[in-house]
Amino acid sequence: MLNRSSYGYSLDQSRKLTHLFYVDDLKLFARGRQQLEGELELVRGFSEDIGMIFGLDKCATISVKRGKLEREENMVLIDGQVLPTLGTEERYKYLGVQETYEIRQRENKEEVEKELFSRIKKVLNTQLSAKNKMTAINIWAIPAFIYTAGVLTWSRTDLERLDRETRTTLTQYCVLHPNSAIERLYIPRRESGRGLSSLENVYLKEESRIKTFFLQSNLPVHHLQQPEVDLPSTNTYLTQGYLYPQTEGTLMAIQDQVVPTRAYAKYIMKQNIENTKCRLCNNVEETVQHLSSGCSTIANTKYLSRHNNMGKVVHQFMCLREQLLQEFVPHHIYEPTTVREGNEIKIYWDLTVQTDPGAEHNRPDMVVWNKRRKSAIIIDFTVPLDQNLAKVYGEKIAKYETLSRQMKQTYGLEKVEIKPLVISCNGLVHRKTVEHLREMDLPSNTITWMQKAVILATVSIIRQVLFPH
Ligand SMILES: [Zn+2]
Repeated sequence: MLNRSSYGYSLDQSRKLTHLFYVDDLKLFARGRQQLEGELELVRGFSEDIGMIFGLDKCATISVKRGKLEREENMVLIDGQVLPTLGTEERYKYLGVQETYEIRQRENKEEVEKELFSRIKKVLNTQLSAKNKMTAINIWAIPAFIYTAGVLTWSRTDLERLDRETRTTLTQYCVLHPNSAIERLYIPRRESGRGLSSLENVYLKEESRIKTFFLQSNLPVHHLQQPEVDLPSTNTYLTQGYLYPQTEGTLMAIQDQVVPTRAYAKYIMKQNIENTKCRLCNNVEETVQHLSSGCSTIANTKYLSRHNNMGKVVHQFMCLREQLLQEFVPHHIYEPTTVREGNEIKIYWDLTVQTDPGAEHNRPDMVVWNKRRKSAIIIDFTVPLDQNLAKVYGEKIAKYETLSRQMKQTYGLEKVEIKPLVISCNGLVHRKTVEHLREMDLPSNTITWMQKAVILATVSIIRQVLFPH
């Protein structure tokens, strides 16, 4: 009901967050007080229907304007119940984490640390056997801390310190000799160790699990499930399964961000690497995102040819549709001519469009003129990072706005449409891309070939940079 409502806090132009909900822990987000009242009324009405009531003593409202807490009146529900406003010094708990309008890092960290060591000491004070003590710490004390992974920021230094303090505590309780090998403490018992979990290890694992979850999950806050993504088309390469197994494997690794970039080697693999700047441009951190779509050194070569390969597919299918071509050839051997002309249409490929008085952006990737209908379509291709899928579409429309207006005037056209075709470097297909191809009567496998061109190029870029031989 909340998702279907018109309420919600806008994260950006296309994504809206109405609530977070876990069992009976609910947090509503709204743009302004009035909206919040609307949301609360929805929840109140629904709760009433299912025979539940608000635990008013555990509810609070908070109002933040431009990053600052605003003092506001208590909120009164339609049935007369009052929700108090959270005071400036007060905090509330959401899923056990102390929050105000932000997560209080320091307070939470101190509290979690205290809880961790209190549990460890409780375990050490029991009469449990050596092995059972380790197990109890692993499954009862450490999870209290690991719970904060991805929510609170623990640095590697923090984690190392906590592991060290844990060992000191073990030593105080005569469970660990101060000169014993540290490594052995953390080795599994069946491999002759003592089987304690290292906080650092478990924490990093949990953090990466959360990351994977975010990348795969379909909540509106997670970028892979942007409403702009056309899922069936996006999964074409998986459902059709035309990739070589190795290529599919590499692509998955790129999508999971587990390829050995310098940043990955240093921060995840913990290798001793001094310079994590990109090996090509030496300018920006070498992450997989940077190599896939952000490196200036290969922008005009590798990225450009990926972009062109995707475009060539559309050009070719357009020519086939107009019977300007007889048969389909793979995109890497296909070379579009600058101008192709048929009975009804004329196709420009990467050609400046002269208009009066002239537009700043006057060279879209393709322009399709329809002579009979007195109309034209401006087509521009783009291969952004996954998370920029939504943004670039709007940018392209804005970019060619002036040109389209001037084309109409200069050439007396009745209609000039702008159709940006967007597939992200990891193959996410913008739903408008599917829509536009359909509007242009291009066959449905156009998308398959476009996506294939992009995916193969991305895999090849990453391979060439990271495994040059
Ligand atoms: Zn670079």
